[in-house]
Amino acid sequence: MADIYVFLGPPGAGKGTLGDLFCAETGVIHVSTGQLLRDEMAKQSEIGKQVKDLIAKGELISDDVVAAMVSNRLAQKDIQSKGCLLDGFPRTTPQADMLSRILAETNNRLAAVLLIEADRDMLISRLTSRRVCSNQACGAIFNVNTQRPAKDGVCDRCGSKLVQRSDDSESTAIERLHVYDAQTAPLIAYYTASGHLVRMQSRDVAPNENYQALKTALA
Ligand SMILES: [Zn+2]
Repeated sequence: MADIYVFLGPPGAGKGTLGDLFCAETGVIHVSTGQLLRDEMAKQSEIGKQVKDLIAKGELISDDVVAAMVSNRLAQKDIQSKGCLLDGFPRTTPQADMLSRILAETNNRLAAVLLIEADRDMLISRLTSRRVCSNQACGAIFNVNTQRPAKDGVCDRCGSKLVQRSDDSESTAIERLHVYDAQTAPLIAYYTASGHLVRMQSRDVAPNENYQALKTALA
């Protein structure tokens, strides 16, 4: 019986980086439903063909299809011995019910659901910090928090003006955080009730420091 982990966290909180550090240190396998879908399509499996069909028709991939794919993956030997960090599933409480059934069927157990919390101002600052070169032929990318250009607002590479994409605007960041809150609140309630939820605070420090907080939370 292997340990399955789920991480929940808002955009900008460093969920991907923390997941990578966690898997690298513990040997737990990172399983992303997006990657599983791409793999199934590449293999032209039965599920892969169904998914390709749905995408071609512009239809949503049903929970049942995703659940079948996750179930197949969690039954495999490597996961049975090393465990996994499940990424992209569950996103809703019906999916959480499905996961609980899949875990019973595949002889795995939910070790913890980690909720990565972060200060809203920090998230907005991170989500709005990207600047791109306005010269499309150049395309250089900077970050006003972590990768500043030598001269404010000017591309190091070609000297063109740096601009903020609308995807990186404050209103988009606020909207993304709002969507995250609305989607995640039911899961937080669900896993609080089941006793699986553990919380950590992501702070504006080096990833390794946040990783220590993660280890403390999961210990
Ligand atoms: Zn440039």
